[in-house]
Amino acid sequence: MSFVIPAVPQPALPVVGTDAQFPVNRIYCVGRNYVDHAIEMGATGREPPFFFMKPGDAIFPVAYDAEAQLPYPDKTEDFQYELELVVAIGKGGANIPVASALDHVWGYAIGLDMTRRDLQSEAKNLRRPWDTGKAFDHSAPVGPVHPAADVGPAGNRSITLRVNNETRQHSTVDKLIWNIEEMIAYLSGYFTLYPGDLIMTGTPAGVAPVVRGDRMECSIEGLGTLNIQVV
Ligand code: MN
Repeated sequence: MSFVIPAVPQPALPVVGTDAQFPVNRIYCVGRNYVDHAIEMGATGREPPFFFMKPGDAIFPVAYDAEAQLPYPDKTEDFQYELELVVAIGKGGANIPVASALDHVWGYAIGLDMTRRDLQSEAKNLRRPWDTGKAFDHSAPVGPVHPAADVGPAGNRSITLRVNNETRQHSTVDKLIWNIEEMIAYLSGYFTLYPGDLIMTGTPAGVAPVVRGDRMECSIEGLGTLNIQVV
């Protein structure tokens, strides 16, 4: 097939232990999926979580062996981190039951749902969509994908973000309000999931802005640590 204009490259993430890549399709994000974060965002912690999306090409691949340089975006004075466990879908489907949902998971990665919080807050106040606050270029720094067969289930592994050597977010992924199976079942009722879809599963309490020069250390037990400097 020939295209009349150049096709953009397929977004992809490296896979741990191989030279092959994981092709990225859509990025689904869960909002308010840890009670303590829901409360810090002004909710009660009892509302059900909800979803929004980032485009697949918002991905900003981060390697383990070098500090990444994440560009500070335009149009914001309040650029905030949200550290999240990322689920990589390997087998698509619609109306997937909870009981078989984990069969659709290919792997896991460490990710950041970077947010222009001032634009998101303005959108909330004006009852407008969140895209300018959430779905901008480089808004999804994500590390290499670990095959689920190698790392096992999400379990109760710890999730920790440090900024300039100070702990800012710390929790365990068993504190998710909706667990991974429930998220896959729910999402697949609204959208057909495809191989290559990512799910950013939500962030614990402690979100705050970063500025140019700040160094973020993003760790999930069993998946290692990503080092990212805002530039
Ligand atoms: Mn988030």
